[in-house]
Amino acid sequence: MSAVSTVSSRPVAIVTGGSRGIGRSIAERLAADGFAVVINYFSRRDAADEVAAAIQSTGGDAFVVQADIGVTADRQRLVAETLQHFGRLDALVNNAGITSPGRKDLLEATEESWDQVFATNLKGPFFLAQGAAREMVRLVQAATIERATIINISSISAFAVSTNRADYCMAKAAMQMMTWLLATRLADDQIRVYEVCPGVIASDMTAPVQEKYDKLIADGMSPIRRWGQPGDVAAAVSMLAGGTLPFSTGERIHIDGGFHIRRL
Ligand code: NAP
Repeated sequence: MSAVSTVSSRPVAIVTGGSRGIGRSIAERLAADGFAVVINYFSRRDAADEVAAAIQSTGGDAFVVQADIGVTADRQRLVAETLQHFGRLDALVNNAGITSPGRKDLLEATEESWDQVFATNLKGPFFLAQGAAREMVRLVQAATIERATIINISSISAFAVSTNRADYCMAKAAMQMMTWLLATRLADDQIRVYEVCPGVIASDMTAPVQEKYDKLIADGMSPIRRWGQPGDVAAAVSMLAGGTLPFSTGERIHIDGGFHIRRL
Protein backbone atom coordinates (compact mmCIF):
# COMPACT_ATOMS: atom_id res chain seq x y z
CA MET A 1 0.00 0.00 0.00
CA SER A 2 1.45 3.36 -0.97
CA ALA A 3 1.66 5.91 1.83
CA VAL A 4 -0.86 8.72 2.08
CA SER A 5 0.16 12.18 3.20
CA THR A 6 -2.91 12.73 5.39
CA VAL A 7 -5.44 10.60 7.19
CA SER A 8 -9.06 11.73 6.89
CA SER A 9 -10.35 13.38 10.04
CA ARG A 10 -13.75 11.91 9.22
CA PRO A 11 -14.44 8.19 9.55
CA VAL A 12 -14.50 6.55 6.12
CA ALA A 13 -17.17 4.21 4.72
CA ILE A 14 -17.22 2.23 1.49
CA VAL A 15 -20.73 1.72 0.13
CA THR A 16 -20.84 -0.80 -2.72
CA GLY A 17 -23.56 -0.06 -5.27
CA GLY A 18 -23.76 3.45 -3.86
CA SER A 19 -24.86 4.94 -7.17
CA ARG A 20 -28.54 4.06 -7.01
CA GLY A 21 -31.43 2.84 -4.86
CA ILE A 22 -30.69 1.64 -1.35
CA GLY A 23 -26.95 2.21 -1.72
CA ARG A 24 -27.43 5.83 -2.69
CA SER A 25 -29.58 6.46 0.35
CA ILE A 26 -27.02 4.75 2.60
CA ALA A 27 -24.19 6.85 1.11
CA GLU A 28 -26.10 10.09 1.65
CA ARG A 29 -27.13 9.13 5.17
CA LEU A 30 -23.61 8.16 6.23
CA ALA A 31 -22.27 11.39 4.74
CA ALA A 32 -24.84 13.33 6.76
CA ASP A 33 -23.65 11.40 9.84
CA GLY A 34 -20.11 12.69 9.21
CA PHE A 35 -18.55 9.85 7.23
CA ALA A 36 -16.39 10.45 4.19
CA VAL A 37 -18.02 8.09 1.71
CA VAL A 38 -16.55 5.98 -1.07
CA ILE A 39 -19.29 5.52 -3.64
CA ASN A 40 -18.71 2.35 -5.59
CA TYR A 41 -20.64 1.73 -8.80
CA PHE A 42 -20.59 -0.84 -11.59
CA SER A 43 -21.58 0.91 -14.85
CA ARG A 44 -23.60 4.03 -14.00
CA ARG A 45 -20.85 6.63 -13.61
CA ASP A 46 -23.43 9.40 -14.13
CA ALA A 47 -25.50 8.19 -11.19
CA ALA A 48 -22.45 7.82 -8.93
CA ASP A 49 -21.24 11.32 -9.82
CA GLU A 50 -24.71 12.69 -9.00
CA VAL A 51 -24.58 11.13 -5.53
CA ALA A 52 -21.07 12.50 -4.94
CA ALA A 53 -22.17 15.98 -6.06
CA ALA A 54 -25.20 15.87 -3.76
CA ILE A 55 -22.97 14.95 -0.81
CA GLN A 56 -20.35 17.56 -1.64
CA SER A 57 -23.00 20.28 -2.05
CA THR A 58 -23.88 19.87 1.62
CA GLY A 59 -20.25 20.01 2.79
CA GLY A 60 -19.67 16.26 2.79
CA ASP A 61 -16.75 14.26 1.47
CA ALA A 62 -17.30 11.71 -1.32
CA PHE A 63 -15.02 9.73 -3.63
CA VAL A 64 -16.27 7.68 -6.59
CA VAL A 65 -14.69 4.33 -7.49
CA GLN A 66 -15.80 2.03 -10.32
CA ALA A 67 -15.43 -1.65 -9.48
CA ASP A 68 -17.22 -4.85 -10.37
CA ILE A 69 -17.69 -6.43 -6.96
CA GLY A 70 -17.62 -9.88 -8.56
CA VAL A 71 -14.05 -9.40 -9.86
CA THR A 72 -11.03 -10.03 -7.62
CA ALA A 73 -8.76 -7.28 -9.00
CA ASP A 74 -11.60 -4.72 -8.85
CA ARG A 75 -12.30 -5.48 -5.18
CA GLN A 76 -8.62 -5.14 -4.30
CA ARG A 77 -8.41 -1.84 -6.19
CA LEU A 78 -11.51 -0.52 -4.40
CA VAL A 79 -9.88 -1.04 -0.99
CA ALA A 80 -6.48 0.22 -2.19
CA GLU A 81 -7.91 3.41 -3.72
CA THR A 82 -9.93 4.08 -0.57
CA LEU A 83 -6.80 3.91 1.57
CA GLN A 84 -4.74 5.95 -0.86
CA HIS A 85 -7.41 8.65 -0.91
CA PHE A 86 -8.47 8.75 2.75
CA GLY A 87 -5.79 6.87 4.72
CA ARG A 88 -8.34 4.94 6.78
CA LEU A 89 -11.36 2.65 6.55
CA ASP A 90 -13.98 2.52 9.31
CA ALA A 91 -16.98 0.89 7.67
CA LEU A 92 -17.83 -1.35 4.75
CA VAL A 93 -21.41 -1.63 3.55
CA ASN A 94 -21.81 -4.63 1.27
CA ASN A 95 -24.87 -3.34 -0.56
CA ALA A 96 -24.30 -4.01 -4.29
CA GLY A 97 -26.46 -6.82 -5.55
CA ILE A 98 -28.44 -8.06 -8.51
CA THR A 99 -31.66 -9.97 -8.80
CA SER A 100 -31.85 -13.27 -10.61
CA PRO A 101 -31.55 -12.50 -14.36
CA GLY A 102 -34.84 -13.27 -16.08
CA ARG A 103 -36.41 -14.50 -12.83
CA LYS A 104 -36.66 -18.02 -14.27
CA ASP A 105 -38.62 -20.85 -12.65
CA LEU A 106 -36.43 -23.20 -10.62
CA LEU A 107 -36.79 -25.93 -13.26
CA GLU A 108 -35.46 -23.55 -15.94
CA ALA A 109 -32.74 -21.89 -13.82
CA THR A 110 -29.31 -21.74 -15.47
CA GLU A 111 -25.75 -22.09 -14.25
CA GLU A 112 -24.93 -18.76 -15.94
CA SER A 113 -27.47 -16.99 -13.75
CA TRP A 114 -26.16 -18.84 -10.67
CA ASP A 115 -22.56 -17.80 -11.41
CA GLN A 116 -23.50 -14.16 -11.97
CA VAL A 117 -25.70 -13.90 -8.87
CA PHE A 118 -23.29 -15.71 -6.59
CA ALA A 119 -20.30 -13.68 -7.84
CA THR A 120 -22.05 -10.36 -7.16
CA ASN A 121 -24.18 -11.21 -4.13
CA LEU A 122 -21.99 -13.62 -2.13
CA LYS A 123 -18.44 -14.25 -3.33
CA GLY A 124 -17.85 -10.54 -3.98
CA PRO A 125 -19.16 -9.35 -0.59
CA PHE A 126 -17.27 -12.09 1.27
CA PHE A 127 -13.89 -11.43 -0.30
CA LEU A 128 -14.39 -7.68 -0.18
CA ALA A 129 -15.11 -8.04 3.55
CA GLN A 130 -11.96 -10.15 3.88
CA GLY A 131 -9.83 -7.52 2.11
CA ALA A 132 -11.40 -4.66 4.05
CA ALA A 133 -11.08 -6.52 7.36
CA ARG A 134 -7.36 -7.11 6.86
CA GLU A 135 -6.90 -3.35 6.53
CA MET A 136 -9.26 -2.59 9.44
CA VAL A 137 -7.30 -4.96 11.71
CA ARG A 138 -4.07 -3.23 10.71
CA LEU A 139 -5.59 0.23 11.29
CA VAL A 140 -6.94 -0.74 14.72
CA GLN A 141 -3.56 -2.20 15.72
CA ALA A 142 -1.85 1.00 14.56
CA ALA A 143 -4.41 3.02 16.59
CA THR A 144 -5.41 4.92 13.44
CA ILE A 145 -9.00 3.89 14.21
CA GLU A 146 -10.56 2.52 17.41
CA ARG A 147 -13.11 0.22 15.86
CA ALA A 148 -14.76 -0.68 12.55
CA THR A 149 -18.01 -2.05 11.19
CA ILE A 150 -19.02 -4.36 8.34
CA ILE A 151 -22.67 -4.34 7.31
CA ASN A 152 -24.08 -6.86 4.85
CA ILE A 153 -27.29 -5.96 3.03
CA SER A 154 -29.15 -9.23 2.74
CA SER A 155 -32.89 -9.68 2.06
CA ILE A 156 -36.12 -11.27 3.23
CA SER A 157 -35.26 -13.66 0.38
CA ALA A 158 -32.75 -15.18 2.83
CA PHE A 159 -35.70 -16.91 4.50
CA ALA A 160 -38.72 -16.43 2.18
CA VAL A 161 -38.88 -18.70 -0.87
CA SER A 162 -39.27 -17.33 -4.42
CA THR A 163 -39.11 -20.29 -6.81
CA ASN A 164 -38.27 -17.96 -9.70
CA ARG A 165 -35.14 -16.59 -7.96
CA ALA A 166 -33.49 -19.68 -6.46
CA ASP A 167 -29.92 -18.42 -6.87
CA TYR A 168 -30.79 -15.04 -5.31
CA CYS A 169 -32.48 -16.70 -2.31
CA MET A 170 -29.58 -19.10 -1.72
CA ALA A 171 -26.92 -16.39 -1.99
CA LYS A 172 -28.82 -14.17 0.46
CA ALA A 173 -29.39 -17.10 2.86
CA ALA A 174 -25.63 -17.72 2.94
CA MET A 175 -25.07 -14.11 4.00
CA GLN A 176 -26.28 -14.92 7.49
CA MET A 177 -23.53 -17.50 7.98
CA MET A 178 -21.05 -15.14 6.36
CA THR A 179 -22.06 -12.46 8.90
CA TRP A 180 -21.72 -14.89 11.83
CA LEU A 181 -18.31 -16.10 10.61
CA LEU A 182 -16.92 -12.60 10.19
CA ALA A 183 -18.49 -11.42 13.47
CA THR A 184 -16.84 -14.25 15.38
CA ARG A 185 -13.42 -13.98 13.76
CA LEU A 186 -13.24 -10.19 14.05
CA ALA A 187 -14.71 -9.60 17.51
CA ASP A 188 -11.32 -9.38 19.24
CA ASP A 189 -10.17 -6.94 16.56
CA GLN A 190 -12.91 -4.42 17.52
CA ILE A 191 -14.75 -5.01 14.25
CA ARG A 192 -18.53 -5.50 14.55
CA VAL A 193 -20.41 -7.27 11.76
CA TYR A 194 -24.14 -7.06 11.06
CA GLU A 195 -26.72 -8.19 8.53
CA VAL A 196 -29.59 -5.97 7.44
CA CYS A 197 -32.56 -7.72 5.82
CA PRO A 198 -34.70 -5.32 3.77
CA GLY A 199 -38.22 -6.26 2.74
CA VAL A 200 -39.84 -4.85 -0.38
CA ILE A 201 -38.08 -1.54 -1.02
CA ALA A 202 -38.89 0.91 -3.83
CA SER A 203 -35.89 0.96 -6.20
CA ASP A 204 -34.89 0.18 -9.77
CA MET A 205 -34.62 -3.47 -8.73
CA THR A 206 -38.29 -3.75 -7.76
CA ALA A 207 -39.68 -1.35 -10.41
CA PRO A 208 -40.40 -4.17 -12.91
CA VAL A 209 -42.52 -6.03 -10.33
CA GLN A 210 -44.21 -2.99 -8.81
CA GLU A 211 -47.79 -4.08 -9.59
CA LYS A 212 -47.28 -7.50 -8.02
CA TYR A 213 -45.97 -5.95 -4.81
CA ASP A 214 -48.62 -3.20 -4.77
CA LYS A 215 -51.21 -5.94 -4.52
CA LEU A 216 -49.32 -8.06 -1.99
CA ILE A 217 -48.76 -5.05 0.25
CA ALA A 218 -52.42 -3.98 0.04
CA ASP A 219 -53.40 -7.57 0.92
CA GLY A 220 -51.34 -7.44 4.14
CA MET A 221 -48.12 -9.17 3.14
CA SER A 222 -46.49 -7.33 6.06
CA PRO A 223 -48.17 -5.85 9.14
CA ILE A 224 -47.00 -2.36 8.10
CA ARG A 225 -48.85 -1.90 4.80
CA ARG A 226 -46.53 0.25 2.74
CA TRP A 227 -43.54 0.01 0.46
CA GLY A 228 -40.22 0.27 2.23
CA GLN A 229 -38.09 3.22 1.18
CA PRO A 230 -34.31 3.23 0.71
CA GLY A 231 -34.12 5.64 3.66
CA ASP A 232 -35.63 2.97 5.93
CA VAL A 233 -32.61 0.75 5.23
CA ALA A 234 -30.19 3.67 5.48
CA ALA A 235 -31.51 4.49 8.97
CA ALA A 236 -30.55 0.99 10.17
CA VAL A 237 -27.11 1.23 8.58
CA SER A 238 -26.61 4.63 10.18
CA MET A 239 -27.39 3.21 13.61
CA LEU A 240 -25.04 0.25 13.16
CA ALA A 241 -22.14 2.15 11.58
CA GLY A 242 -22.43 4.80 14.27
CA GLY A 243 -21.55 2.23 16.93
CA THR A 244 -24.91 2.41 18.72
CA LEU A 245 -24.83 -1.33 19.54
CA PRO A 246 -21.26 -1.97 20.79
CA PHE A 247 -22.12 -5.19 22.72
CA SER A 248 -23.86 -6.72 19.70
CA THR A 249 -22.37 -8.48 16.70
CA GLY A 250 -23.56 -10.97 14.10
CA GLU A 251 -27.04 -9.49 14.56
CA ARG A 252 -29.70 -9.55 11.85
CA ILE A 253 -31.85 -6.41 11.65
CA HIS A 254 -35.16 -6.73 9.81
CA ILE A 255 -36.27 -3.68 7.83
CA ASP A 256 -39.39 -5.22 6.37
CA GLY A 257 -42.50 -3.75 7.99
CA GLY A 258 -42.77 -6.88 10.14
CA PHE A 259 -42.83 -9.32 7.20
CA HIS A 260 -40.63 -11.80 9.11
CA ILE A 261 -43.22 -12.34 11.85
CA ARG A 262 -45.05 -15.64 11.37
CA ARG A 263 -48.77 -15.10 11.58
CA LEU A 264 -51.86 -17.29 11.84
P1 NAP B 1 -30.65 -1.39 -7.55
O1 NAP B 1 -31.59 -0.25 -7.45
O2 NAP B 1 -30.78 -2.35 -8.69
O3 NAP B 1 -29.14 -0.84 -7.48
C1 NAP B 1 -28.10 -1.76 -7.56
C2 NAP B 1 -26.78 -1.08 -7.24
O4 NAP B 1 -25.76 -2.10 -7.22
C3 NAP B 1 -26.36 -0.06 -8.27
O5 NAP B 1 -25.68 0.97 -7.58
C4 NAP B 1 -25.41 -0.84 -9.16
O6 NAP B 1 -24.42 -0.03 -9.82
C5 NAP B 1 -24.75 -1.74 -8.16
N1 NAP B 1 -24.19 -2.96 -8.74
C6 NAP B 1 -24.82 -3.93 -9.43
N2 NAP B 1 -23.94 -4.89 -9.81
C7 NAP B 1 -22.74 -4.50 -9.35
C8 NAP B 1 -21.43 -5.06 -9.42
N3 NAP B 1 -21.19 -6.21 -10.05
N4 NAP B 1 -20.42 -4.36 -8.85
C9 NAP B 1 -20.64 -3.19 -8.21
N5 NAP B 1 -21.86 -2.63 -8.10
C10 NAP B 1 -22.88 -3.28 -8.68
O7 NAP B 1 -30.76 -2.31 -6.23
P2 NAP B 1 -31.37 -1.98 -4.78
O8 NAP B 1 -32.80 -2.32 -4.79
O9 NAP B 1 -30.94 -0.65 -4.32
O10 NAP B 1 -30.66 -3.15 -3.93
C11 NAP B 1 -29.49 -2.92 -3.17
C12 NAP B 1 -29.24 -4.15 -2.30
O11 NAP B 1 -30.38 -4.40 -1.47
C13 NAP B 1 -29.00 -5.45 -3.08
O12 NAP B 1 -28.04 -6.23 -2.45
C14 NAP B 1 -30.36 -6.13 -3.02
O13 NAP B 1 -30.25 -7.53 -3.16
C15 NAP B 1 -30.80 -5.73 -1.64
N6 NAP B 1 -32.26 -5.78 -1.44
C16 NAP B 1 -33.09 -5.02 -2.19
C17 NAP B 1 -34.47 -5.11 -1.96
C18 NAP B 1 -35.47 -4.29 -2.72
O14 NAP B 1 -36.69 -4.53 -2.53
N7 NAP B 1 -35.07 -3.34 -3.56
C19 NAP B 1 -34.96 -5.97 -0.98
C20 NAP B 1 -34.07 -6.73 -0.25
C21 NAP B 1 -32.73 -6.63 -0.47
P3 NAP B 1 -24.75 0.78 -11.20
O15 NAP B 1 -25.59 1.96 -10.83
O16 NAP B 1 -23.41 1.16 -11.73
O17 NAP B 1 -25.48 -0.19 -12.08
